[in-house]
Amino acid sequence: MTIPFFAPDLFDADHETLLGLVREVGLDPEQKFILGSRTAEFERVQRDAVGAADAIACGSGTSALLLVLTAMGVGTGDEVVVPAFGCAPLAAAPALLGATPVFADIDPVTLVADPVEAARLIGPRTKALLPAHMFSVMADMPAFRRLADSTGVRLLEDSAVAQGGTLAGRPAGMWGDAGVYSFVQVKTFGMPGEGGLVVTGDEELGQAIRMLRNHGQDGRQRFVHHRIGWNSRFDEIMAAFQLHRFPSFPERLNRRAKIGEYYTERFASLADRGILTPPRDRDGRCFYVYNLLADHRDALLKHLADADIDSHVYYRSPLPSQPGFARFARPGEAWPAAERACQRSLALPIHPMLTDAQVEHIADAVCHFADTKRTSR
Ligand SMILES: *Cc1c(COP(=O)(O)O)cnc(C)c1O
Repeated sequence: MTIPFFAPDLFDADHETLLGLVREVGLDPEQKFILGSRTAEFERVQRDAVGAADAIACGSGTSALLLVLTAMGVGTGDEVVVPAFGCAPLAAAPALLGATPVFADIDPVTLVADPVEAARLIGPRTKALLPAHMFSVMADMPAFRRLADSTGVRLLEDSAVAQGGTLAGRPAGMWGDAGVYSFVQVKTFGMPGEGGLVVTGDEELGQAIRMLRNHGQDGRQRFVHHRIGWNSRFDEIMAAFQLHRFPSFPERLNRRAKIGEYYTERFASLADRGILTPPRDRDGRCFYVYNLLADHRDALLKHLADADIDSHVYYRSPLPSQPGFARFARPGEAWPAAERACQRSLALPIHPMLTDAQVEHIADAVCHFADTKRTSR
């Protein structure tokens, strides 16, 4: 039986709860299925968990990015500095608002946007910086915070993969003027549905985002539209389910961290055989995905597949090389670290449902592959 990259049994222990909540919300005399009391409670719990001024639940992580950028006034003619290596919404969100994503190259080892590169790309039209935490490593948020403060540019922290992580005592999401989380199934606090959350220490920004997620209404008076908004609301069944799952979230995160640390320990000596692990620290980590950098990446992927292990290559080309975003690639710019990451990165299963035996089998398979490379190099 193949060890799956994502857990197919993530919600097995919660099936009865989920069905119970479908019944409860479905039969509730209030008949309120979005943005009801359960969503409000979920937002309160999330707000207090990170010490935010406001937390706003919305339709998805992508839509959370759109809502924040819109609330920050990002639009036509503006530029937003984003990582050259990462997921599509980083480039799509600014582009959909008529702004230009400006791609910053990444740190070659941690794979997060390089703040020095970001600083170089700030110009008179730069409206916001949009760094993202990647795989298991948080972006250098202290550096991005300083950069935003010294240039007067706004800072949006994409924490879609880093919920529950902290850096220098500050929760992921709380380094930016606003941060976003995603609850899509595979994320660390994933759920059986679609949703996202914005956290912010800026009350005014929070209020704008609240209006924007529901057609520009202020939540008091219906059919009065203070501004042009979106439909990006939150489901009551999902809110209740997430409230149920939140107390056990740290336990699942901790299991992920333990697996990650075990891999890093086992692979520590493989650097001279072309396999590089993420850095060791606990601080500034998130353990969403355990990503290796391997000289013979595709051979390693095949080796693992032969050992019944499902591994995954996230990004095979940098964002500025994607057909949809190529027109935003500045002539004369290059992203060598992002290119190299696309050729070398390989993600191993790290989900909390893995057994110790499976984790050991995965580590053994990687070490065995490295041994075959020792003789051939
Ligand atoms: C998953 C993810 C998103 C998008 O979240 P969705 O809920 O899938 O829309 C945005 N940014 C990053 C870094 C992500 O990993």
